[in-house]
Order: sequence, then C-alpha cells, then structure tokens
Amino acid sequence: MAEKSCEGCGAKCCKYIAIEIDAPETKEDMENIRWYVLHKNVNVYVDCEGVWHLEFLTPCENLGEDNKCKIYDKRPIICREYDADTCLHHNEYEEEYTFTNIEEVDKYIKEHF
Ligand code: SF4
Ligand code: SF4
Repeated sequence: MAEKSCEGCGAKCCKYIAIEIDAPETKEDMENIRWYVLHKNVNVYVDCEGVWHLEFLTPCENLGEDNKCKIYDKRPIICREYDADTCLHHNEYEEEYTFTNIEEVDKYIKEHF
C-alpha cells in the first residue's frame, strides 16, 4: 500500500500510455521515430536507463470527470500495481531525450548518425 496520496494530482498516470520500443541502431531505424512524432499527442522518449518508449498522451476512457477510476474493481493489473510512492507525480524522473516533433528527431540524427 502506497504511503503517498493521489490527492491533488489530477490523475496524471491515467492520461497517457507508454510502450517500450527497440532502440534505433541505424539512421533508417530513426525513420519510424520521425513518423511517430508527426502524429498529434505522440512522443518518443528515452528514459534515464536508456530505454526507448513510444508515448501517447491520451486519457483513459474510464477516467471520470472527478479524476476517479470508473471501473476501479475491474481496472487492469498495470493500474493496480502502479505505485504512488514511485510515480511521476511524486518523483523527478529525468528523461535522457524527449522527442515531441520531427525537428528534435532530425537534430538527434544529425548528432548521432
Ligand atoms: S499514482 Fe501518482 S500519478 Fe497516479 S494519480 Fe496517484 S499521485 Fe497521480
Ligand atoms: S482503468 Fe482506471 S486506473 Fe486504469 S488508467 Fe483507466 S481510469 Fe486510470
């Protein structure tokens, strides 16, 4: 049971999904990253451990206007296991890279490939 409270957070963890992706190894691999970030509310980031993620900034359809889960008893395991003590609201997680647009990706390509 988490010691930290969700009070006042605004349910940040229910407003995006992030999926781990293979780290690009070639300039050609970067083409998909360029494509991803051309889409609205889609970002790519590299976490502090060097793991690449595709991120969709989109709220869960079961999040109520009061920022409470409408399917609390049936919520997925990932939601049950998410821990407020280690969550993004209560901790500073520095990302190694964040790409929100194609210009940022192209700058990275220029510097790394
Ligand atoms: S677990 Fe963290 S991010 Fe999620 S609602 Fe609670 S305080 Fe906010
Ligand atoms: S199912 Fe509930 S806890 Fe899980 S993301 Fe949706 S609103 Fe949040």
